[in-house]
Amino acid sequence: MSTLAVSLISLGCPKNLVDAEIMLGHLPPERYTITTDEAAADIIVVNTCAFIEDAREESVDTILEVADYKKTGNCKMLIVCGCMPQRYQEELSKELPEVDLLMGTGDAPRLVELIEEQLGRPEQRTEIGTPDYLYDHNTPRALASPFYTSYIKIADGCDNNCSYCVIPSLRGTLRSRTMQSVVAEAQSLVEKGVKEINLIAQDITAYGADLGGATNIEALLPQLVKIEGLEWIRLLYAYPEGISDRLIELIATEEKICNYLDVPLQHIDNDILQQMNRRLDEKGTRALVKKLRERIPDLTLRTSFIVGFPGESAAQFEKLLKFVSEGHFERVGAFRYSREEGTPAATMKRQVPDRSKNARQRRLMKAQARVSFRKNRGLVGQVESVLVEGYSEETELLLKGRSVRQAPDVDGQVYITAGQADVGDIVPLVITDSSEYDLIGEIQGALDD
Ligand code: SF4
Repeated sequence: MSTLAVSLISLGCPKNLVDAEIMLGHLPPERYTITTDEAAADIIVVNTCAFIEDAREESVDTILEVADYKKTGNCKMLIVCGCMPQRYQEELSKELPEVDLLMGTGDAPRLVELIEEQLGRPEQRTEIGTPDYLYDHNTPRALASPFYTSYIKIADGCDNNCSYCVIPSLRGTLRSRTMQSVVAEAQSLVEKGVKEINLIAQDITAYGADLGGATNIEALLPQLVKIEGLEWIRLLYAYPEGISDRLIELIATEEKICNYLDVPLQHIDNDILQQMNRRLDEKGTRALVKKLRERIPDLTLRTSFIVGFPGESAAQFEKLLKFVSEGHFERVGAFRYSREEGTPAATMKRQVPDRSKNARQRRLMKAQARVSFRKNRGLVGQVESVLVEGYSEETELLLKGRSVRQAPDVDGQVYITAGQADVGDIVPLVITDSSEYDLIGEIQGALDD
């Protein structure tokens, strides 16, 4: 049997990336090889995102781009999987005849079976199961991140039902892995050289709520910090109302848990938060931020906001802008509201025009850039733990890395101007300079001799 070369492009969030790694992990090496060269690939897989309009455009553009390889390259089969087919299987099937196989968000472990069945068949096939799949520590997974860092998906799906969000319809209801399974996976990742584990879910604070009993994030973390060789545990996607005092205490006291928290807040105006079906109001949000700052003084707080939600008046936006300008966050992502068919918010009155959304997004990010610049400036002279990631794209003379305050893929970088270290090392670095999002520094002691 000849071998087939597979190229996989994963778009969207780290949860999608884990699904992609599971698909790659299921490819038996005696039959399949993995390539990043799409022109040479026999099979191209596009793992799509359909969260908002921008993400869908990127997904369709990518599909059309690689579809060309069916004419110009070696591609015999084009597979589209993930959130787009889960949501738009009929439309995709009609509008993209060049796609051979459509799979959903719950079908990752079936990739090989479906490829083997589809090989040589001219007609397009759609295989969209219910989004109820959940991997565990025994699931084959080919890591796509650098050897020293990895994501662990501790749960999938979501029961929060924010009024603007399609994720529950794409990813299903909340389902959590057992703590034993998460700990076993973390242990095996560390044995492979992983030093940083980023815990992800749609909402990590809801972890275990579907399993009842003692399964929750506060019980899981003390087990993870015991793993020798694991140095950084980072918490991403925490729902604000779900952040308990115990969780705050664990972040504050456990050395291995990064003083970093990603808490999407979405807005600060009570009426808008209510329309969004969010459970924490302005008073609760401010109290949470105050508590976090008091208990974890050097916390790096990341959040995201939606601008242009239906009915958002200029005054309500100014309130959000003022909240951001108060400087509560080291990192902010600003999304323009995307009208998602099938969500309650899509039928709401007073939809905001695109040009207002664009202007509000620009103003919010500008205000945050000033805050980030100021906060980074305040780090100059301090010693930071930095994970060395390799040489900077700009020049081989510069090593680069990420500080404990910078999550993979979304936050800035650290440029190392003095000192030597190997990729994957975590070193103490003296910060000598900074910009809005990046830091510059020297490995401690590098210039002593
Ligand atoms: S918590 Fe996040 S994933 Fe869940 S419904 Fe709300 S926005 Fe969507």
